Amino acid sequence: MRDFENDGGHMMFGGVRADSIAERYGTPVYVTDENIIRENYKRIYNAFAKHMEARVHYACKANSSLAVLRILEQEGSCIDAVSIGEVMTAMRAGFDASRILYTGTSVGSAELKAVADLGVMINADSLSAIERLAKIRPDAKMSVRINPGVGAGHCDKVNTGAKDTKFGIPADTAADAYGRAVELGLEPIGIHAHIGSGGQGIEPFTDAVSVLTEITNRIKDDHDIDLEFIDMGGGFGVPYRPNEQVTDAEEIAEAVTDIILNETSVRTVAIEPGRYMVCDSTILLTRCTDVKRTEVKNYIGTDAGFNTLIRPAFYGSYHHVAIANKFNKACEGKYDVVGPICETGDFLARDRALPMPEEGDVIAIYNAGAYSFSMSSTYNSRPRCSEVLVCDGKIDVIREPETTEDLWRHQKIPERLLK
Ligand SMILES: *Cc1c(COP(=O)(O)O)cnc(C)c1O
Repeated sequence: MRDFENDGGHMMFGGVRADSIAERYGTPVYVTDENIIRENYKRIYNAFAKHMEARVHYACKANSSLAVLRILEQEGSCIDAVSIGEVMTAMRAGFDASRILYTGTSVGSAELKAVADLGVMINADSLSAIERLAKIRPDAKMSVRINPGVGAGHCDKVNTGAKDTKFGIPADTAADAYGRAVELGLEPIGIHAHIGSGGQGIEPFTDAVSVLTEITNRIKDDHDIDLEFIDMGGGFGVPYRPNEQVTDAEEIAEAVTDIILNETSVRTVAIEPGRYMVCDSTILLTRCTDVKRTEVKNYIGTDAGFNTLIRPAFYGSYHHVAIANKFNKACEGKYDVVGPICETGDFLARDRALPMPEEGDVIAIYNAGAYSFSMSSTYNSRPRCSEVLVCDGKIDVIREPETTEDLWRHQKIPERLLK
């Protein structure tokens, strides 16, 4: 877990006092440090590129804010998009179609056509998608998502590579699917698997890539298909807890590229990091609105609930918590940090040792750059919060907070109900 500088009891973030950001922009607010995203990109790109030609496709569902996409566009990243909305958002942020790979799952032909019409390559998730793509664009270059039968992830909900998940074409029928694609006129140039999100350890990656290399060689023999790239997906873990160790990208890169270079004649590897790129770039600042002490528990009530950050409630995820304006104070008791949503499951953190909280304190939630704002909602009719970007002490608003009017914007009341 990344640690932050302490300036006389005040947490510093990107060269700015966290509590002053909360004061100036209101809470809750997501605060992203531009430099951390740039560092993360360079670190993971270099880890792979030093072994072979590498393409980094940022999995933008982790955080699809336009300013974040601009930063990665400047760094030279490509994009992994899972919907037409993500494709269009990436293009709006300046990505050329040639830098986007689309991996939709269970998507209809209208969406496939819309993506293909924009000139974006499609990574087919099923035999049906191959058949339908061939009707839409018979000579398209494309790739195929394999279900490698090996999965990993920080919890079951995000394991996407196991045999019984909905993703990809089963490894044992993959060669036939490639054969069919060629028969239909398509031009397969890649093979893909994504095993899951936030896994630790190296083996699931190497196991999945070995499945891909076997298929790569098999389709060369059976169908004379020469692939240009092997895409190993994303899922690189990030430490969320203090002192937590995760397998570093360097080690994974070395092991994976070794397999590809030794086992196949493919010379380009693609990777799809989402979480790795943005997770530790962002903190969520929320204000303590209410302190409650009961016989069984103490609660810090805040103005951010699972509408703002759903990962703890949805996945049981750990996010580190600190009081930004009491950064050097000793812990005094244990608290559940909870939000304003009217559900028992609305918590950000449980049983955390923290300094004595007071209403008005600024609470910092760590590692809030991935699957955080992008999964936020307006549940309980609470508009989504704002996002700001800091860079060497400069601060810019990159998303204005929504208003209550925004909640009503697309709604209509039938005439007869107005009487
Ligand atoms: C979500 C996703 C990723 C990224 O996963 P992370 O754990 O954020 O790295 C990569 N590829 C595909 C196809 C995905 O759906």
